[in-house]
Amino acid sequence: MSVTLDLSRMAHSPSREGADAPKPPINLSGLTRPQMVAALTESGVVEHGKAKMRATQIFRWVHHRGVTDFAQMSDVAKETRARLAERFTIARPEVVERQVSKDGTRKWLIRMAPGIEVETVYIPSVGRVGALCVSSQVGCTLNCSFCHTGTQALVRNLTAAEIVAQVQIAKDDLAEWPSDKEDRLLSNIVFMGMGEPLYNMGQVADAIEIISDNEGIAISRRRITVSTSGVVPQLEALGEKTQAMLAISLHATNDALRDVLVPLNKKYPLDQLMAGIRAYPGLSNARRVTFEYVMLKGVNDSPDEARALVKLIKGIPAKVNLIPFNPWPGTDYQCSDWAAIESFAAILNRAGYSSPIRTPRGRDILAACGQLKSESEKVRASAMRKLSMAAMAGVLDDDEDEAAA
Ligand code: SAH
Ligand code: SF4
Repeated sequence: MSVTLDLSRMAHSPSREGADAPKPPINLSGLTRPQMVAALTESGVVEHGKAKMRATQIFRWVHHRGVTDFAQMSDVAKETRARLAERFTIARPEVVERQVSKDGTRKWLIRMAPGIEVETVYIPSVGRVGALCVSSQVGCTLNCSFCHTGTQALVRNLTAAEIVAQVQIAKDDLAEWPSDKEDRLLSNIVFMGMGEPLYNMGQVADAIEIISDNEGIAISRRRITVSTSGVVPQLEALGEKTQAMLAISLHATNDALRDVLVPLNKKYPLDQLMAGIRAYPGLSNARRVTFEYVMLKGVNDSPDEARALVKLIKGIPAKVNLIPFNPWPGTDYQCSDWAAIESFAAILNRAGYSSPIRTPRGRDILAACGQLKSESEKVRASAMRKLSMAAMAGVLDDDEDEAAA
């Protein structure tokens, strides 16, 4: 059974564009190296025998050096560069808004296409490390009751090029070209922005292959975390195809409550989810799964629930991220009191689980973002969702910080 929603096709159906509409140029930034070899050969711009060498050369210019114009590829013949520019593009999408917080958190609103805007957030951590929170879809088809993204009407899958562009734009802003391995500000990637990555597996897997390729941005797959609300049939494929670290948005320890918070639970209840997690390829003490647990006052934050959580995840190499709930206008949920979060964390810690609670970063710019929303007629449905991205800083736990430092 396929669970991938290819909604992007709907927006680009040939019938809407007209039969004679010129084909948009392929963005090479969204192609893995083997895909680039195929595209170059097919285009006739590069002869078959040279395609592999040329693809690696171009891949390095785009993903190691960060260039956005074929003219900058000084070791490629001028005529070839001109022919490449006729068939392909390596341009970035437009950054329509950029904000930097006092604590170093950076946020970009990126326009992928008219009306298709996503936000990407860079969260610095201790020392010279930091995580980039990327989006995999515009909006989300799953309606988790505490999440604002789920209320957004427009949903479309992002392409691999659009996912990679989020990383490229962050690296532009952080001045991290060329992509050297030492001393990186952008050391980790988390798929915790808008959307359900496992409903866009193909593009997410390609993007991970591109981002982790040693000839390019070279962020190791162990530093790339994919967060899912629990699309159980896709878990194995995620592990096999991407070898990414897994994060599960758990939020409840029994089906009755999880059905309400994460309605996908009705389709894939907890026993199936936990079995899928236990079977996740490559899980070990060195590669633990992260359980995300949003702290909702009076809903899921009692000591009994902390104990139930310990029981539920027993035997799984895991850490728990306690996320203070970020309220948004119209929600009935409230964030748990700090004392409740601390007692919850203490129970987990006593049971041997690392459970960092992180102070949300970038409050100042995110508050501005909330204002922008209330002042605007055209409601940016994604705005408050970004608040939770800041709380996601907790995904970089202490040992990872140390390992990366
Ligand atoms: N769709 C995926 C990834 C994006 S959501 C998923 O659900 O895992 C990333 C994380 O943000 C999830 O753990 C989600 O539950 C959490 N989240 C969503 N809305 C939130 C809010 N208002 N406050 C705190 N965390 C929130
Ligand atoms: Fe979608 Fe994740 Fe929000 Fe649920 S929490 S609605 S899966 S983005």
